[in-house]
Order: sequence, then structure tokens, then C-alpha cells
Amino acid sequence: EQTISKKPLTLLLAAPRGFCAGVDRAIKIVELALEQHGAPVYVRHEIVHNRFVVDSLKAKGAIFVEELDEVPDDAHVVFSAHGVPKSVPANAQQRGLAYFDATCPLVSKVHKQAERQVQAGRHIIFVGHAGHPEVIGTFGQVPAGAMTLVETAEDARNLQPADADNLAFLTQTTLSVDDTSEIVSILESRFPNIVGPKGEDICYATSNRQEAVKAIAGKCELVIVIGAPNSSNSLRLVEVAARSGAKAHLVQRADDISMNWFDGVDTLGLTAGASAPEILVREIIDALAAHFDIDEQQVTTAQESITFKLPRELAGAAA
Ligand code: SF4
Repeated sequence: EQTISKKPLTLLLAAPRGFCAGVDRAIKIVELALEQHGAPVYVRHEIVHNRFVVDSLKAKGAIFVEELDEVPDDAHVVFSAHGVPKSVPANAQQRGLAYFDATCPLVSKVHKQAERQVQAGRHIIFVGHAGHPEVIGTFGQVPAGAMTLVETAEDARNLQPADADNLAFLTQTTLSVDDTSEIVSILESRFPNIVGPKGEDICYATSNRQEAVKAIAGKCELVIVIGAPNSSNSLRLVEVAARSGAKAHLVQRADDISMNWFDGVDTLGLTAGASAPEILVREIIDALAAHFDIDEQQVTTAQESITFKLPRELAGAAA
């Protein structure tokens, strides 16, 4: 019997990849709420943008809804990692709902900054993507009209603020590092008195994952990013890889991979967005191993050790 030899494939695995501290904390909050209060626990919006994570929590008794009016009065509810407008906890309190806030502390930091800038009398230019729940949540920290959204460099060039000397800028946490630095420099050169964070508000996990994929993409003909189509940081990883000249595809599961993508591919890059669990990385590598003789190499560009504290009400029993 003849063994058919598989085609060799070098696999460059970006590190860091996958779960960040904010996602890890948000999932733990739902799990602990379920353990301590029993099923069902309601979750407003996908806790993190990943179907596998959402389905696993559903199986444990979480019920996902888009708005609070879908939550019964005596239920426990968790707010997603992306953050919520102030009206959401206010509404929950009014109804006497028991809620846990899984907003990532790095998003909450931006929320506080937004409030502070408004108190200081500044108009805020917010760099972000329209419609993303984080953007909706951050806009909901300040009165209507106190913040203007800028999505692109062109928006930044065309902006005509009422009081150009009294501006602040803030950013979404999961943006492209390169695009954002371009937008921020346009804002700073057009409005020299604009006040902002050092650099921007892009979080450590977003910038580390972009840097890691950049380090491998130039050596790969194809880069696969594991993540959801509504995951901002995952979409940015696809863009970064594509800009380095590799073909880049976003997939949610191994099933989404097409063998046609591999024509002419000797080196594959693999990474995962901040909401994608490592188990999906292994699932994909296992699926590829059926077709290729894989030489797996991890390329590490940063070490991450950051973790976030759980809310006090839940942390006690977890210890
Ligand atoms: Fe927090 Fe960044 Fe993770 Fe978003 S991607 S949850 S901001 S650490």
C-alpha cells in the first residue's frame, strides 16, 4: 500500500491572538451569574462578538436579548463587554432589575473621559465605526449633540466644528492603529488646541494583535483570521494582513475554510480576534492537518499578563 504524502504547509501562528482580558472577564461574569443565581441569566447583546462563545453560554442557560424590555422583571441581566449607554443601567435600576455590568474596564475608561471632557465644556470628536455597540454605548455617556463621529481620514478633513478651539478627541478601543494615527494627526494639525489621550484609546489587545499579524503577514501567501463579521478588532486584523500583501480571509469555524484558497500557498498565517477562543484555533489546525503536512511555528511579538478584576458582587464566591 502506498502512502500519499500530504503537501507541506508552514503555519505561522501569531501571538498574541485570541481572548483579551476584557473578553475573558465578560464571559466569567455570565458564568458566575449563572452559577450563583441559576438559569436563566439574561444577557443584553452578544456578550462578546463570537457565535461559539454565545452558543456555549446559551447551553449553560444564558438568554441573549437586544434590549432590556425583553427581560422579565425578576431576572438577572448582564451588559456586554462593549459597554452600554447610561440609559440602560438607569432603566434597569428603575425597574429594580438585578444587573451585572461586563463592560470592559478599558471601555469604561473612555466613558469616564467622555464625561470629563463634556464637564470641561469641550465638544468631543469620537473616532469610531457607526453602529458598533461600543460607539453607541460611548455616545450614550454624554448629552445628545456633545459628540461628533469621525469614521475616516476624509471625515476628519471635512469636519467643521462650531468651536474649533474647544475640542477633545476620543477613540473606539478596537480600531486600526495605522488608520487612527492618520486620523488623529489630521485632527491635531487642523485643530492645534484639541485635547486627547496620549496616542489614542485603542486597547493593548487590539494593538498587540495587529502588530503580531503584521509580523507574519509579509511572510505568508494567505492569512486566516478567526473572528466574527461583526467583530471590529477581527475585521481590522484582516485589513492589516491584506495591506501586507497576503490574501486574507475571516472565518468563524473550520467549515468556512475553502481548499481553493490554498493554491500557491506554502506559508499560512493564522490569528484570532480578541473574542475568538483558542479552541477554534486548534479546530482549524486539526482540520488543515487532514490535507497538509503542517510545520507549526509560533511568532510572538508581545507577552500579555493583564487581567481585570471581577465585579465585587460576583468575585467573592469565585475565590
Ligand atoms: Fe477590552 Fe480591548 Fe478586549 Fe475590547 S478588545 S474587551 S477594549 S481588552
